[in-house]
Amino acid sequence: MKRILITGGAGFIGSHLCKRLLNEGIFVICLDNFFTGRKRNIENLLPNPNFELVEHDIIEPIDIRVDEIYNLACPASPPHYQYDPIKTMKTSVIGIINMLELAEKYNAKILQASTSEVYGDPLVHPQVETYWGNVNPIGIRSCYDEGKRCAETLVSDYHRQFGLDTKIVRIFNTYGPNMAQDDGRVVSNFIIQALKNEDITIYGDGTQTRSFCYVDDLVEGFIKMMNSEITGPVNLGNPSERTIEDFAKLITELTKTKSKIVYKPLPSDDPTKRRPDITLAKKVLNWQPEIDIKTGLEKTIEYFRHTIKI
Ligand code: NAD
Ligand code: UDP
Repeated sequence: MKRILITGGAGFIGSHLCKRLLNEGIFVICLDNFFTGRKRNIENLLPNPNFELVEHDIIEPIDIRVDEIYNLACPASPPHYQYDPIKTMKTSVIGIINMLELAEKYNAKILQASTSEVYGDPLVHPQVETYWGNVNPIGIRSCYDEGKRCAETLVSDYHRQFGLDTKIVRIFNTYGPNMAQDDGRVVSNFIIQALKNEDITIYGDGTQTRSFCYVDDLVEGFIKMMNSEITGPVNLGNPSERTIEDFAKLITELTKTKSKIVYKPLPSDDPTKRRPDITLAKKVLNWQPEIDIKTGLEKTIEYFRHTIKI
């Protein structure tokens, strides 16, 4: 039976990936230190005999026999990764070294969950994999951006130096059920504010853009990438781009909230635009997102309606 390790498996994306792989009859080992992940995300998987939960921090080495590794462990929301920036950097850099060493020991395939943040505040739009990015190395987002860039380097070097079977996916803004309530990212913030009829907080003037991908689409892309012959990096995201102001209006409309929109200061180094060019994913993985924003948001709103205390 194939044994797959998912680091960060109790987090938002990781929990969906665990569920999806278990449904395929695979033995899933979910590793997490519960920094931003939660037991409730994987609670219903615990009784499954093919599921194992390991509480562990990837900055410490670990020895588990595995055939494949999905390395997702890393806080992903700006408030969470900025909370302890040195720890964030260690998670990306020391964490991936530990996972690459593990992959080497058991001759396992390894997929690194990288990010659109490697493009920084991009000067090329939409972002293509061949673009090297525009990243501030000393700003408040650098612990995450540079940590993920360094992880990409390490993955590429283990591939070149030791012939490891590696994959890199660059994930663009993804949303869906199991996002943490205190996550601080725009999707969860706006939905929770709307459901509570509290002010919807746009940072800056709301003209910055993002492109939102529903989590099921992303997970499908992960699996196609792991099963492919290529190393990447490959962008995974939904190219449907909108301004944050339009996004706030959409949430207002879908939740039928009484909330009003308010404007707050823009955090430093906040990227002005972001949209994936997914030509490569379409060509090499035969992958593209299938779930439109309204369908995805309705599922997410429904999730938060049942989980938040109003
Ligand atoms: P998340 O915060 O919900 O999940 C991250 C998980 O990693 C959590 O369960 C957390 O407890 C765990 N973790 C953090 N540090 C760890 C450590 N040192 N050891 C073990 N576990 C640790 O975030 P997410 O949105 O599910 O993101 C998952 C991955 O995808 C991250 O690597 C993130 O950088 C990447 N990503 C996500 C997005 C997105 O839009 N959601 C975009 C780009 C990249
Ligand atoms: N944002 C916002 N209000 C919020 C949270 C975020 O206007 O309550 C903005 C944020 O400044 C950024 C965009 O929404 O321009 C996406 O932010 P998020 O933290 O979700 O992810 P990012 O893509 O910046 O990592």
